[in-house]
Amino acid sequence: MTDLKTRILEDIALTGPMPLSRYMNLCLGDPVSGYYMTRDPFGQKGDFTTAPEVSQMFGELIGAWLVSAWQALGSPSRIRVAELGPGRGTLMADCLRCMALEPKLMRGLQIDMVDMSPTLTAAQQKKLSHAPCPVRWHSSLPDSDLPTLLIANEFFDALPVHILVKTQKGIAERHVITSQEGKLGFADLPTKLTISQSQIDATPFGTVFELSPERNDVADNIAAGIDANGGAALLIDYGYLQPKTGATFQALTNHQMVDPLDQPGEADLTALVDFTSLERCFKSRGIHVSGPVSQMDFLLDLGLLERAGQLGADQSHEIQTGLQQAVTRLVSPDEMGTLFKVLAATSFDDPMPGFQKPS
Ligand code: SAH
Repeated sequence: MTDLKTRILEDIALTGPMPLSRYMNLCLGDPVSGYYMTRDPFGQKGDFTTAPEVSQMFGELIGAWLVSAWQALGSPSRIRVAELGPGRGTLMADCLRCMALEPKLMRGLQIDMVDMSPTLTAAQQKKLSHAPCPVRWHSSLPDSDLPTLLIANEFFDALPVHILVKTQKGIAERHVITSQEGKLGFADLPTKLTISQSQIDATPFGTVFELSPERNDVADNIAAGIDANGGAALLIDYGYLQPKTGATFQALTNHQMVDPLDQPGEADLTALVDFTSLERCFKSRGIHVSGPVSQMDFLLDLGLLERAGQLGADQSHEIQTGLQQAVTRLVSPDEMGTLFKVLAATSFDDPMPGFQKPS
């Protein structure tokens, strides 16, 4: 039994059933045994592979997007670029290579990296040790007076979700409990959380809803910063575009789905991102939203194929094959192309590259 499982069982014995959101928070972020706190989970040998780890092209194109956003802001002499959940720091390192083509941007650039994981923060610090601008690290996004360009790739899916169920006795919330055999189990129990009356009225008993006030709070904080000082945010994650019922919460180990209660702290717990809900947070503050579009449309519009062609020109067959495989991985509908979505929230309403759907 993992040390975290023992502590969760004790916690439940002491304080009662644990809402799923708290269980997810503990499994991912417990300072001693949380999934992200103690390991680097990325790559083929890890539990999952993210787009920046597939190819440098991903970060380079996002770097070009950030330059466009900076220009749309009027090329301010001072700017902050912030990243939420930067993993190994690969995305930022690749972005910086591209942003370095704009010396004026680089001269006034401050980078804020936001991550809760000491292990991954150390990896980011190593990767960015020669960054050509000041870089600071934080466990949550600090306020700033500067206009901010923010990126978050596969960050929101790691924030906790609540699962609510419409029952005959009202709305119940999924909790983690201890069964009679002393094992962890699920139970849907009374809750203070609720959903809109129209959603309740329109659905049959047994309908399941997944929501994340925690994600909305983060989006709202980003929106407030953009509203106050100008800026842009680019959110990339696997998720869905139309509001829907049902739970998408899942646990992954070694690229396979596993029982989320089996080994707390050892599996990645995630849920698909409800993009409509994030969009609402930005729009309610009058922030302009582009997309969401699929990662496929976004990267193709930004010039992924052209970049692959440049990198592959005059290179060995092996390098060219590697580039082709990376392109397939990033944009094929069978891989990351359509499951992943991209949303931009901007203080300006200029049309942004990546969001002009290719014909
Ligand atoms: N963006 C990276 C890594 C994605 S994995 C990539 O694309 O490769 C999720 C990242 O978010 C990890 O770095 C993890 O440590 C961080 N993270 C997850 N939940 C967090 C939270 N609540 N606060 C801060 N960082 C968090």
